[in-house]
Amino acid sequence: QCITHCPVGALKERNDVPKIYDVLADPNKVTVVQVAPAVRTSWAEAFNLPPELATEGRMVATLKKIGFDYVFDTCYAADVTIMEEASELLEHLQKPQDHSWPMFTSCCPGWVSYVNKTHPYFVPNLSTTKSPQQIFGALAKSYFAQKKGLKPKEICSISIMPCVSKKREAALFSMRSSGTHDVDIVLTTREFIRLLRAEHINPAMLDEQPFDNPLGQSTGAGVIFGASGGVMEAALRTAYHVIEGKEAPEDAFTDVRGTEGRKVREFTLGGATLRTCTVSGLGNAGKLLDELKAGKVHYDFVEVMACPGGCVGGGGQPIHDGEERADVLGNKLYTIDSNRPLHQSHNNPDVQELYKDFLEKPLSEKAEQLLHSDHVKEHNYM
Ligand code: SF4
Repeated sequence: QCITHCPVGALKERNDVPKIYDVLADPNKVTVVQVAPAVRTSWAEAFNLPPELATEGRMVATLKKIGFDYVFDTCYAADVTIMEEASELLEHLQKPQDHSWPMFTSCCPGWVSYVNKTHPYFVPNLSTTKSPQQIFGALAKSYFAQKKGLKPKEICSISIMPCVSKKREAALFSMRSSGTHDVDIVLTTREFIRLLRAEHINPAMLDEQPFDNPLGQSTGAGVIFGASGGVMEAALRTAYHVIEGKEAPEDAFTDVRGTEGRKVREFTLGGATLRTCTVSGLGNAGKLLDELKAGKVHYDFVEVMACPGGCVGGGGQPIHDGEERADVLGNKLYTIDSNRPLHQSHNNPDVQELYKDFLEKPLSEKAEQLLHSDHVKEHNYM
């Protein structure tokens, strides 16, 4: 917000749109785009599209119209994130003495960076699973490249994110599992809208198109990642299935939803109590870390999203002066979840195929190499 309100215009918002034109003009590059869950809740506001036209299919159509070769869904990668992170949580629960407690989610780079810079004592508590953006980039330049007979450097991996921190995350030295950056260009939702305007695209005139495959199919669990509590709920849906051997009731974990600063809940899994804490906003996260260090509170699994309300309220989303819209946009994601035929990451057929044909199983050697980071190289860039 301070960039857009700088009184002398000295602070300018970063603009990576020109990089898109360079890569689209390069005949030696295959462009592969991923779109984050939260972007679909807000991209159409700039065009005043009514809800029936502001669909995921029409968002895909705009990206195809711009000229990208493949349009995929970060929600697919979010389903993979859950497979890895829920497996990590179960491993921690099985061998509690081998791990630092509580386990923290790590899909928000704002949060990971905050822990590294202000509370490095807690770095071992972070899940080693990379964020969906980086998991997608790693799979685009390995699994997808292999399927298409491409070399990683022939692919330009582009992400559209509600987030400014994702630009910094993509540049980290630790996010180069393919030998090159796994994500080459990150556009915020605002930059995406700027690109559509520059191209004079009227989304209302386009017919809907589906995401491409095999990195385009997602479950409702992958979609709700964009709202505070979404990662926790998605992980619990899969952890429950593994521990109890059946699907959780639909409303089993909806208690973790909402934009409150801190939500503490208890769930029974396999006869044991799991204490969860969901935090939104870095101010609240700082207080939590201080209380954890002082031994004042005890939890097993903690989700933190740096932006109030989660990614739907992210720093790269359209700005509405004086309006807090995370609640409204988060509800849009829960509606998409309800309308998806599948609601658990482990039931995504494309994710099942990924493990069968390529990764073998969650936390396999290959999965560790491509999809995990110890977050220690967090401050190194290249
Ligand atoms: Fe980025 Fe904010 Fe989402 Fe964290 S919560 S990933 S900083 S948009």
